[in-house]
Amino acid sequence: MQKITILGATGSIGASTLSVIEHNSEQFEVYALAAASNVESMLTLCAKWQPEFAAMANETAALELEKQLKQINSKTQVLAGVDGLCAISSANEVDMVMAAIVGAPGLLPTMAAVKAGKRILLANKESLVMSGQFFIDAAKMYGAQILPVDSEHNAIFQCLSQTVQNQLGFCDLDEAGVHSILLTGSGGPFRYSDITSLDSVTPEMAIAHPNWSMGPKISVDSATMMNKGLEFIEAKWLFNAKQEQLKVLIHPQSVIHSMVQYNDGSVLAQMGEPDMRTPIALSMSYPDRIPSGVKPLDFTVLSELTFLAPDMARYPCLQLAIDACYTGQSATTAINAANEISVAAFLNRELKFTDIVRVNEKVMNKVCGLSTLGTESLESLLELDRIARIYATEILTERN
Ligand code: NAD
Ligand code: MG
Repeated sequence: MQKITILGATGSIGASTLSVIEHNSEQFEVYALAAASNVESMLTLCAKWQPEFAAMANETAALELEKQLKQINSKTQVLAGVDGLCAISSANEVDMVMAAIVGAPGLLPTMAAVKAGKRILLANKESLVMSGQFFIDAAKMYGAQILPVDSEHNAIFQCLSQTVQNQLGFCDLDEAGVHSILLTGSGGPFRYSDITSLDSVTPEMAIAHPNWSMGPKISVDSATMMNKGLEFIEAKWLFNAKQEQLKVLIHPQSVIHSMVQYNDGSVLAQMGEPDMRTPIALSMSYPDRIPSGVKPLDFTVLSELTFLAPDMARYPCLQLAIDACYTGQSATTAINAANEISVAAFLNRELKFTDIVRVNEKVMNKVCGLSTLGTESLESLLELDRIARIYATEILTERN
């Protein structure tokens, strides 16, 4: 029996992970579940899965959950705060940790799992974007195994040799005969909209993704294609890729989840239904395969597969993130932090859709102009993240 901790259990990835476990209950067992503050959802999950531990980031929510669990005579113990999240990520009994908290709060609990040498099922791309080399080095030093859950990176992983798969973070793509990695993305809901109309995009329009069902933050990131930008940075770190080895391609149908182009002219693609249970299942079972509950892809009902180059005038966030990627760690930590603030402001109707990029860019430039901030330790990365958030909030206040 493999024991799993799910960070972000009440979210979209959390639900898909629990669905995969349900299909493979003889092989996987829930050890602990964690979420931010949604007591009602957590209570339902605890009643069903009976984990040893439930952790809530919010202390008040933890107390409320504890009270309600007692009323149903549950044996689940409740932990609170970042310490609680880190404890369930690093406990001796745990074999694998699903890192699916959204955003920067995922970094510390994921790092706790890395330092405990766990198998990390990495959905929380923001933690890798924030900490890059530090994360990769820590995984190597503590013997943690990273399995990409993000569908594109999971697809790329599947298209690479086992030698490369076993050296994530420090593999040699040239030696593996790889010409380039083709990171595909649907282009989001506005790929065919008139660019001049993007000014008036509402949160409801932005989170209505044509192919995938996801949490609100990543849905907005998909509409701006900031998500593909964060994935570009994620791919750089996971596959140790040079800038010219990474290319973004729009593929509206989301059937191909990414591709690897080899020097001999071969192109390998991974395909499937747009359902996160496929990459989640592989990350849990690798190198084996298990059922995920996803229906087989039916090629007879697919009309056509099309591709186009991304138009950077439509997706300035994508260009910004690609630029940041090879500028350095300060730039990527800064745009990640700025983007979390600007997207939250957009979802609160305090910022226009087309101003998300403006805030992100301003913060990135300001943070990169500071020479005093290091990026070598977790503390310095968190400090950079904190300062970038202050700048982003200041810019928002000035605008309003
Ligand atoms: P979501 O908004 O649906 O869920 C987020 C989860 O994180 C919730 O359980 C929430 O309670 C928890 N959370 C938020 N803040 C927290 C905190 N401070 N402490 C503890 N828990 C906290 O998000 P999602 O769509 O499931 O995405 C989760 C992560 O997976 C993101 O990093 C996203 O980029 C990545 N991802 C998601 C998808 C997808 O299809 N949904 C695909 C690829 C990657
Ligand atoms: Mg993705």
